[in-house]
Amino acid sequence: MKTYDCIIVGGGIAGLQAAIQLGRYQHKVLVIDSNDGRSTLCRSYHNILGYPIGISGEELRTIGREQASCLGVSFLQDTVIKAEKQNADFILSTVSHVQFLAKRLLLATGIMDTIPPFPALFPCLGISVYVCPDCDGYEVKDRRTVVIGNGNVGANMALTLTYWTKEVLYINHGGDQVDEELEQKMKAKKIPHINKRITTVNAEGEKLKSYVLEGEMEVKAEHSFIAFGKNKVKSDLAAQLGVKLLDNQHIVVDGRTKMTNIENVWAAGDVAAHSEQVTIAMGEGSQAAIWVHKSLLQN
Ligand SMILES: Cc1cc2nc3c(=O)[nH]c(=O)nc-3n(C[C@H](O)[C@H](O)[C@H](O)COP(=O)(O)OP(=O)(O)OC[C@H]3O[C@@H](n4cnc5c(N)ncnc54)[C@H](O)[C@@H]3O)c2cc1C
Repeated sequence: MKTYDCIIVGGGIAGLQAAIQLGRYQHKVLVIDSNDGRSTLCRSYHNILGYPIGISGEELRTIGREQASCLGVSFLQDTVIKAEKQNADFILSTVSHVQFLAKRLLLATGIMDTIPPFPALFPCLGISVYVCPDCDGYEVKDRRTVVIGNGNVGANMALTLTYWTKEVLYINHGGDQVDEELEQKMKAKKIPHINKRITTVNAEGEKLKSYVLEGEMEVKAEHSFIAFGKNKVKSDLAAQLGVKLLDNQHIVVDGRTKMTNIENVWAAGDVAAHSEQVTIAMGEGSQAAIWVHKSLLQN
């Protein structure tokens, strides 16, 4: 079984930034990544220092892998399905039946949004369809915006967006009931609420055009937000190791070191408890890596 000073599970934004930092200490590092994270979905990040016209998740990931590889970090495309403690080390098993031994473990496995499976939506993500108002509310400033979602989650998103635009419409595709109080708030903000399922998404490449609803009604939509809730937090491996989770399944970490309650297990990025943004994932990846290094020095 191959042994590494540190194995990073997850080669998204947090994992790559940690890999670069650990590579610069010249530790023996492996990144195992299944290549299906949020950063594989977003076609343009607009709020990152140095990229005023935006950069896609794929571009950032490619740059990050190249930068870390040049520092001697190894990469494997695979999915870790089991994590076990063996004395002071960790055994990781992948879906392809490979096992590795890690002296230190960093979980950077992220979360996954609930996105309805209309293929036409995916090329639009980050360009004309968004998920996070703190990231992309600015992109819909003074623009007509259609929220698609479920129940109260979608209603709250529609209300939040009125900070940027007066013209918001809510399609409750999921169909869960919206609380009366939120209905009243939407009424006060003149947000129409359509309680119908979407049957077709029309888009030209990255540009969203319209939603067709049951009954053939077509709603023009050039800018849209998705808000269904129930995002999947990928903290299963952490749970296997006895790592403390919040009720919402995010991993609890020490604010200074990013280490979890289990010695030598760290977590960084969206899977940990915080505000789910690229620059925060980078910061946490770096911070975790610095403390992984400090702990390796004590060996
Ligand atoms: C549509 C969209 C638009 C967004 N726009 C913005 C924006 O404009 N600005 C902004 O700051 N943020 C934005 N975000 C959020 C941003 O993408 C995330 O905050 C960021 O990707 C978090 O990085 P991460 O490394 O924690 O997770 P991810 O980037 O999701 O990476 C996690 C990685 O772990 C891998 N993984 C998970 N489990 C396993 C396993 N068991 N074995 C192996 N590998 C595993 C996944 O395959 C993935 O590659 C957006 C997100 C989406 C979906």
